Amino acid sequence: MESARAKLNLGLRVLSQRQDGFHDLIGLFQTVSLADRLYMRPARRLEVTCSDPAVPPGPGNLAYRAAELYLREAGTTPRHVHIEKAIPAAAGLGGGSADAAAVLRGLDRAASRPLGLGALTRMAGQLGSDVPFALQGGTALVEGRGERLLPLRWSTEPVWYVLVCPRVRVDTAWAYSELDRQRRDHPNGLSEPDPYRTFLEHVRGGLVDANRLWSVLHNDFQPLVERAKPIVARASQSLAATDPLAHSMSGSGATVFGIYDDRTAANRAARGLREAGFPVFLCTPCPPSQ
Ligand code: ATP
Repeated sequence: MESARAKLNLGLRVLSQRQDGFHDLIGLFQTVSLADRLYMRPARRLEVTCSDPAVPPGPGNLAYRAAELYLREAGTTPRHVHIEKAIPAAAGLGGGSADAAAVLRGLDRAASRPLGLGALTRMAGQLGSDVPFALQGGTALVEGRGERLLPLRWSTEPVWYVLVCPRVRVDTAWAYSELDRQRRDHPNGLSEPDPYRTFLEHVRGGLVDANRLWSVLHNDFQPLVERAKPIVARASQSLAATDPLAHSMSGSGATVFGIYDDRTAANRAARGLREAGFPVFLCTPCPPSQ
C-alpha cells in the first residue's frame, strides 16, 4: 500500500504569466495526514480503478499517466492500480498529483532495479506542476511552475489543521483567467507592499517561524473565489468564528482551512463546522516522503 497525501498551500502568490502560458507562483506547501491509499499489483495490462465514481478511471486519471510513463521508462510489467480515495477531488488539495507521485514511488519501490529519486523527479515534472512537490512531501518553498522546491523545517511545535471542503468545484483554469482579468483592470496590484512575500524571503534560510507565517498568510485566489462561490465565503466565516491561529484557502479552492495549536481546540472547531453541515477533515502536517 502506498499513501498519497493531500497538500495545503500555506499562502499562494500567483506571479506573471510566462511565455509557455503557465504562471509563475510562489508559496509554502505542506503535506498533511489526509491521504488516498493506492494498491498496486501485477496485471496483464495497465489498469487504474478508483473508489470515487467522480474520479475518472483509466487514461483520464493522472495516476494512469504516471504508471504509463514509469512502465515505459523502466520497461517493467503492467500493473493494476486501485485508488481508495479520501482526498476530495478538485478541491485544491492536490489529490490527483498526490496519486501520480504515489504511483511513481510505489512502482519504483517494487522494482528489482529502481530508477531512483532523480529519475522519479524528472518524470514528476512531466506529469504536472504539483507532482514534484507531491513526490517530495513535507514542507517546502515552491516556486516557478512548481518545479523549484526548497525543503523547510519548522521552528515551532506542529499544529493541527481543520479542512472545510464546501461541496462546490472551482475550475482552476477559470481561477487563473479571472485573476489575469482583474490584474489587467488593476495593473498596480502586484507591486503593492507584500508581507507574505517578504516573509518568504526569510524562510530561504531553511526554517519557518510559524507565528510570523500565520500573521501574513495570503492566497491570491481567495477573494475572487469567495465572490464567485458564496458558500466558500460562508465556510471561511464559519472557520474564522472558531478562533483559529489563522485561516486561509488551499490552491484555487474550494477547501478552506483553519490552524490550531492544540488538538482540543481543533476537535472543537471540527465538531462545530460539521454540525453546520460542512464536510470537515482534521489533520496534522507530515514530514517528507523519502
Ligand atoms: P487542480 O488544481 O490541478 O485542478 P486539485 O487539487 O484542485 O487540482 P484534483 O483532486 O487533483 O484537484 O483533481 C483535479 C481534476 O483532475 C479533477 O477534475 C479530476 O477529475 C481529475 N483527476 C485525474 N486523476 C485524478 C485522481 N487520481 N484523483 C483526483 N482527481 C483526478
